[in-house]
Amino acid sequence: MNCIFCGIADGSVKSQLIYEDEDVVAFKDLNPQAPTHLLLIPRKHIARLDQASEDDALLLGKVLLVAKKLAQQFDLKDFRLVTNNGKGAGQSVDHLHFHLMAGRRFLWPAG
Ligand code: 5GP
Ligand code: ZN
Repeated sequence: MNCIFCGIADGSVKSQLIYEDEDVVAFKDLNPQAPTHLLLIPRKHIARLDQASEDDALLLGKVLLVAKKLAQQFDLKDFRLVTNNGKGAGQSVDHLHFHLMAGRRFLWPAG
């Protein structure tokens, strides 16, 4: 399988790594859409959220807690955490990822 985010997770693809542990990796988005724009991924290859299973419950919880930890670390008061599930929702990389964005005003509903 040729997955760019698996490559980032295993170090074979260069990225600006922000955080890693045995389950979760966070790095800067290549094309940031906000002053702070990080991507959080599980190391495990899950194509998108609707491909996750009950077995992934703990892993998904860990990703959310890493988002909280990074928000604290970067002193982000207001932030947006979002995942795009499927092409129609804007997903362009088929490895589950959460965008952690902050530093500007966000519109709601999201465009
Ligand atoms: P999506 O559109 O799938 O929700 O988000 C994919 C994100 O991954 C985009 O914001 C895009 O800028 C980012 N991205 C795509 N390829 C790379 C890469 O090789 N390195 C990094 N750091 N970000 C990437
Ligand atoms: Zn992958």
